[in-house]
Amino acid sequence: MSAPFSWIKPHPWGVEVVPAGAFIDPARAVDKALVTHGHADHARGGHGETFATPETLAIMELRYRTGAADDAGEIPHKAMPVEYGETIRLPGGVDATYIPAGHVLGSSQILLEHAGERVVITGDYKRRADPTCAPFEVTPCDIFITEATFGLPLFTHPPIGEEMGKLLSALEGNPEGSVLVGAYALGKAQRVIAELRAAGHTDPIYLHGAMEKMCRLYEEHGVDLGELKLVSDHSKDDMAGSIVIAPPSALNDRWSRRLPNPVTAMASGWMRVRGRARQRGVELPLIISDHADWNELTDTIRQVNPIETWITHGREEALLRWCELNQRRARALAMVGREEEDEG
Ligand SMILES: [Zn+2]
Ligand SMILES: [Zn+2]
Repeated sequence: MSAPFSWIKPHPWGVEVVPAGAFIDPARAVDKALVTHGHADHARGGHGETFATPETLAIMELRYRTGAADDAGEIPHKAMPVEYGETIRLPGGVDATYIPAGHVLGSSQILLEHAGERVVITGDYKRRADPTCAPFEVTPCDIFITEATFGLPLFTHPPIGEEMGKLLSALEGNPEGSVLVGAYALGKAQRVIAELRAAGHTDPIYLHGAMEKMCRLYEEHGVDLGELKLVSDHSKDDMAGSIVIAPPSALNDRWSRRLPNPVTAMASGWMRVRGRARQRGVELPLIISDHADWNELTDTIRQVNPIETWITHGREEALLRWCELNQRRARALAMVGREEEDEG
């Protein structure tokens, strides 16, 4: 008989599901990958088989064109779609069930069951409502493998309605100009647009060209984003009094000169840190995150109530300490290659 949980083995570059010969969100190309969501630090190209939700596979297809071969042309990629709630049987008698993580379109937690033991790996997740994706579901398990991107008590995300209010008043205060919002191209951009629509903003929203395909993909998967126009098709006059969405890298770029007198905003959980906003020359920091904040990380651990918590990436020290203080067994996995980038 093997030791408890010996079938699940963390490596710095991915969590291995030993009997199945599979890896979760591996940072290198493997034969069999279980992918939680489409962000680049979780979904690499070049795997033999990729098990993911149909939405995540579509996102990977768009970003990597993995249909035929990876960039190096080596390993052919086989897309293995798994719907939310569906359980698939992997080799070695491991069952995998995909459960919504509430992070971005198609994002999932993966529940692994083997020999009567249950392990949940969250990938990235959040607990706030998001009109662009299915909500996180609390899933009881023995080992809970969680992210900790915002694993410090200082990180508390305000209600999104407050941040939308700031954005819309900045627009009102600049009727001849524009508000340029820096937002990560997968997830954040579409969420900001959908939240603006929910707040009653029906005017056309202008997009940087790099945003267009991902927004169309969201629309094809049933997310209504209202009227979207491309900055490149319009004059400064057309865009007066409008909101423009661009990747964070475009904020201080020559590109922004084509906009009418823009107020520069950025939507990110990192905007809680003033220095980060200043560094990027952001005039209107919007604290909008697709990750759980500190209270949500700790509440989620309490609700899931695992025997052990493993922490994959982020600010793991503080969350580890919190677990100790609350008599919860925990360990940090020190995963590499998980970038915080702008996806916060
Ligand atoms: Zn992510
Ligand atoms: Zn991540």
